[in-house]
Amino acid sequence: MLIKEDLTQEYFEELLNDKEKILKFIADIKWEEGFICRNCGHTNFCKGKSPSSRRCTRCKKEESATSHTIFHNIKFPVEKAFYIAYNLCILGKGLSSYKYSECLAINQMTCWKFNKRIQECLNNNGKEKNRINIQTIIMSEKDK
Ligand SMILES: [Zn+2]
Repeated sequence: MLIKEDLTQEYFEELLNDKEKILKFIADIKWEEGFICRNCGHTNFCKGKSPSSRRCTRCKKEESATSHTIFHNIKFPVEKAFYIAYNLCILGKGLSSYKYSECLAINQMTCWKFNKRIQECLNNNGKEKNRINIQTIIMSEKDK
């Protein structure tokens, strides 16, 4: 299990300031059990073009750290989305969408929607511990 008790609040606060670290964190969770190419099932990979992405060495298909996670195709920067997830999952208290909108400088409805999606996910997995939850949240794919 990647999410250990020693991942402190300070650790996450450091992550929040560094997009590449966030992507690595997401990638580490996503491929914790190893890489399997979604295109051909191959398990060998090399580094992709974008930070923490992986490229299949057989079919050359590249998968980003965020694809097939809750951060897939979001319309705002991943570090801002991660901040919303951090508040709910690690601090255990979300802010209002107005507050997020103000401090992240993104559209209030965008904040509201993303916040709601995480909250629904938390409600579905409410019995688990917070630090496990962030893993569940990250691996929950965006609604089709
Ligand atoms: Zn492949």
